[in-house]
Amino acid sequence: MSSNAEHVPSLPLRAKLASSVSKTAAALSRAAGRGDGSVIGGWIGLKIDPDLLAHLAVGRQVALVSGTNGKTTTTRLTAAAMGVLGEVATNSLGANMPTGHTSALARAGHTPYAVLEVDEHYLDQVIDATSPHAVALLNLSRDQLDRAKEVAMMASLWRTALIGHDDTHVIANADDPMVVWAARGAAQVTWVASGQRWHDDSWVCPECGSPIDRAGDTWRCLGCDLRRPVPAWRVDDDAVVTPEGERLAVSLQLPGRVNRANAATALAVAAQFGVRPADAAPRLSQVASIAGRYATVQRDGRTIRLLLAKNPAGWLEAFDMAEPAPTLLSINARDPDGLDTSWLYDVDFSPLAGRRVLITGDRAMDLAVRLEVNEVPFEHVTSFGRALAAVPPGRLEVIANYTAFQDIRAELDRVN
Ligand SMILES: [Zn+2]
Repeated sequence: MSSNAEHVPSLPLRAKLASSVSKTAAALSRAAGRGDGSVIGGWIGLKIDPDLLAHLAVGRQVALVSGTNGKTTTTRLTAAAMGVLGEVATNSLGANMPTGHTSALARAGHTPYAVLEVDEHYLDQVIDATSPHAVALLNLSRDQLDRAKEVAMMASLWRTALIGHDDTHVIANADDPMVVWAARGAAQVTWVASGQRWHDDSWVCPECGSPIDRAGDTWRCLGCDLRRPVPAWRVDDDAVVTPEGERLAVSLQLPGRVNRANAATALAVAAQFGVRPADAAPRLSQVASIAGRYATVQRDGRTIRLLLAKNPAGWLEAFDMAEPAPTLLSINARDPDGLDTSWLYDVDFSPLAGRRVLITGDRAMDLAVRLEVNEVPFEHVTSFGRALAAVPPGRLEVIANYTAFQDIRAELDRVN
């Protein structure tokens, strides 16, 4: 037994049983080849003890990470940063609803810390169940379809979720007006200048309905006092600048400014638990691909990099991450992607002009029409393999939405 065993709270009997059954079910599900088992295990555990997540959270210091984009990556970076302090339980496979959280905590056993990725819709429930020490709020934008109204509803849900949790420290993106509005009622907030390339869901103030005015890096509502707060943490080229003004070189294996901002958020969250940023920064550079995202694969003399983009804001970020090399775009419109591809018209594809563009996927023709509107020349290929054969040895960037990304991963033998 470890020396601090007497400090580990014992689970109530029902929770013990539920936790044990949850782990067994997850193991059985894995053995049957049905994914990692974290959803079914958590689901059964919660059936036996509806308060199981709360019971499993007792005795742990918890950080939650939520937002439309970047939450899987930021969760991984935060867990890496928190590793300075000791063992961290985390739902690293992206099962980000309470069933997944329950399973992750049951599987990890006693750990002093937990870092959990939370689906935006469940943030209130998970805050109530886990009484987190810190909550990171990354961004809010439409997912798949035109759901601008739902973005405002989500901001409202977050705002309400934080009320009454005065011990919870919020780490929030100062550049997203919807996030700022949601977070500014919280008792303790640290602002991070995480950036916001996508503006189409925050032209209008969620407080008063007046236009939001943007100038350079800053923004303000023309009708009320909602404005960009002064950020404590920011990104400057390859460095993260701490509230004390310390410049920390952060060399990530993950591409793009958005991931340096995710790193800044991870360091800001870890700092709330007492982690010195300089101690955590080297650990961030060890984080490579996450469930295949950002994976770089060598095949037939080509260096292929996979970028997943699930919604309009994600596509804009992917254009920024992709190096100026031949780029394959792949779009499906199956159930997990959303059946409607009209979101393609929300995204400006003109940043791709000047590079060689190939397109594939179930809905390549929708993409073709969209690219013609932006006057971006392209070639259509019928499969990923044909795209690979069509480009010369060297770099190939691949940007794909959810099921298209999974198809390509399967073709590459489930790269990690
Ligand atoms: Zn306003």
